[in-house]
Amino acid sequence: MKLPGAPHVAYRGHELFIEGCALNALARQFGTPLYVYSRSAMLESLAGYQRALAGRDHLICYAMKANSNLAVLQTFAQAGCGFDIVSGGELERVLAAGGDPSRVVFSGVGKTAAEMCQALATGVSCFNVESESELTLLSEVAQGMGRQARISLRVNPDVDPKTHPYISTGLKGNKFGVAHDRAAEIYRHAAALPGLEVVGIDCHIGSQITEIGPYLDALDRVLDLVEAVEAQGIKLHHLDLGGGLGITYTDEQPPEAETLVRSLLARIDARSHGHRKILFEPGRSLVGNAGVLLASVIYLKPGAEKNFCIVDAAMNDLMRPAMYQAWMGMAACTLRDTPPVLMDVVGPVCESGDWLGRDRSLAVQPGDAIAVLSAGAYGMSMASNYNSRGRAAEVMVSGNEAWLIRERETPAELFRGERLLPTR
Ligand SMILES: *Cc1c(COP(=O)(O)O)cnc(C)c1O
Repeated sequence: MKLPGAPHVAYRGHELFIEGCALNALARQFGTPLYVYSRSAMLESLAGYQRALAGRDHLICYAMKANSNLAVLQTFAQAGCGFDIVSGGELERVLAAGGDPSRVVFSGVGKTAAEMCQALATGVSCFNVESESELTLLSEVAQGMGRQARISLRVNPDVDPKTHPYISTGLKGNKFGVAHDRAAEIYRHAAALPGLEVVGIDCHIGSQITEIGPYLDALDRVLDLVEAVEAQGIKLHHLDLGGGLGITYTDEQPPEAETLVRSLLARIDARSHGHRKILFEPGRSLVGNAGVLLASVIYLKPGAEKNFCIVDAAMNDLMRPAMYQAWMGMAACTLRDTPPVLMDVVGPVCESGDWLGRDRSLAVQPGDAIAVLSAGAYGMSMASNYNSRGRAAEVMVSGNEAWLIRERETPAELFRGERLLPTR
């Protein structure tokens, strides 16, 4: 049986494996809910970008909000990646994982003065600035520290990435970036500010993009701007084309990263911009298909209208279905001979929106483990403690070895830091 989008997850006999590890054995050893990642899948996804960019001045900045476990960051740092961060907390994670701050770009619409200070002191490579007010504040903060902040403007190319509205970011009505038609003027302003050094330009048009067309449109719009800005005597050394490449959850057929990058580089060369340093900020496409979320069946609850399969993982562990109505593949960790039943797979959280999959055909019994596929991106990194549920444990697999890379959160850890009122 072929499983969608999970290159290292496959049945061997009646049991589901990730690389050389049986998922049932991992569920028994570490408990559920449990995130399990294939290290090989992560490195192979990265290798596609690396092959396409080999021989050019480039930097791949893993957009770590997709999955920010320290061992994941360490894996990418050791493979030569930089990081795209969106908060001071993410910067601390990069440092804790042994990442190099001089390979970090700092994105996000709401950077605070404290975060700017922290990033300048650490020596990040570039601030991807998203507004004029941010330019002003960053210049002041940098000047106050006797420094210059290297900046790039995130421009909003106003192209439709044809993805879910919550994850499209490059349209005029989005909160991200500066408007394309004002960018040249804002670059002039930036170049005049004493605390700033203009070094590049960036865009990021959305997430889970499955076509090359929107990328090429955005690139053309960005290159038009580069030419307009450089005509004013402002040098843009690097082009940062963001992230957003989609993965296969069900039947999507996104281009391979290597194909996408080669197409973009061909256009860059054709328009005589091939001398520039090229940056990408992939998140989902590096980790999404590398991970599964393991859940155990607690109850089967047949009903007149619907059958429910109640599992021990919930919306707090994996938000994507509840938040984006996302469809995630599902596979039983043990193949049974009993006929499959159509069921909604739901968690224990007290919300009707707490479902992981609807109308799934599964042959399972209480106690069985189910793998939610392609859960490596925006899974654990979006997890919460809603319903006072401790966050899941995480395991990294390589071949037939498995390492615990995050302990399961205990109830006591959940209210550490809370205080009772004084009693009279
Ligand atoms: C989230 C984000 C990315 C990564 O997006 P993916 O869809 O996960 O590849 C890249 N750049 C910026 C600025 C982002 O906010």
